[in-house]
Amino acid sequence: MKFEVTILGSSSATPIYNRNPTSQVLNINERLYLIDCGEGTQQQMLRFDVRASRIDHIFISHLHGDHYLGLVGLLSSMHLNGRKKPLKLFGPPQLKEVIDLQFKYSETHLQYDIEFTITNPNKAETIIANEDVIVETIPLDHRIACTGFLFREKKRLRKLLKDELERIGVPVEVYTSLKKGADYTNPEGKIYKNDTLTVDSDKPKTYSYCSDTIYNEQYFDQINNSDLLYHEATFLHNMVDRANETYHTTALQAADIAVKTNAKKLLLGHFSARYKTLDELLGEAQSVFPETSLAIEGKTFVV
Ligand SMILES: [Zn+2]
Ligand SMILES: [Zn+2]
Repeated sequence: MKFEVTILGSSSATPIYNRNPTSQVLNINERLYLIDCGEGTQQQMLRFDVRASRIDHIFISHLHGDHYLGLVGLLSSMHLNGRKKPLKLFGPPQLKEVIDLQFKYSETHLQYDIEFTITNPNKAETIIANEDVIVETIPLDHRIACTGFLFREKKRLRKLLKDELERIGVPVEVYTSLKKGADYTNPEGKIYKNDTLTVDSDKPKTYSYCSDTIYNEQYFDQINNSDLLYHEATFLHNMVDRANETYHTTALQAADIAVKTNAKKLLLGHFSARYKTLDELLGEAQSVFPETSLAIEGKTFVV
């Protein structure tokens, strides 16, 4: 099953040096999930061939502009392009008010429904559970209410050993029950144990998205064992005082979090405008956690 994330924006605060404010798109089994929607996200979607019509879920971490100022534009374009199917939107309660006000004064009546789910910044909650994925909010510690999002792949059915099934002559009609773990009894009454006909599916993967936050152990348990951990790394560690003042994280701290929570891979993003190039941020994190990459726009990372 496909489970990958494409970076659309990696800048904090303002667009600069061709870097756009935060946005990412997750592809889970060919369904697209948009996480944050900074200014310019629509342009980035066009640039990297991400079709808005394929997005049915949008998650907004918090109401600092670099995470949502592109949202109303995107919702408006969906309307103008004739969208009819409902859109599920997740975010802080005030987001609904912001959207409603904008459409009220432009006298826009959307042709599709927005199904809005309020996120709780104080408590982890499951906000989606479908056949592909379970999504939980991650309460973070920022200047204003902020949540990250944790995407946990659903356990897949067992995989069939097709050659073995054909050799024994197992009818296709029983394949579904075999995938669910049943044994097979042939017409002569001989029983074939399930584990001789199938193998376990791949272990379900986890993607943790930790947007703006100060270093705070409160969410470490929840993101433990992430296959891919995205963590903001706004500053180098020589700016740790500034990071604390503004409720952000340094690259070194992000790497330390990856170590402490046993992540397999780390992705750094939300870079300050003070860094024209990002090599130092990468180097600092890799000195502690070698499996670190930069959230470069247009790049896709497999979870
Ligand atoms: Zn931000
Ligand atoms: Zn912020």
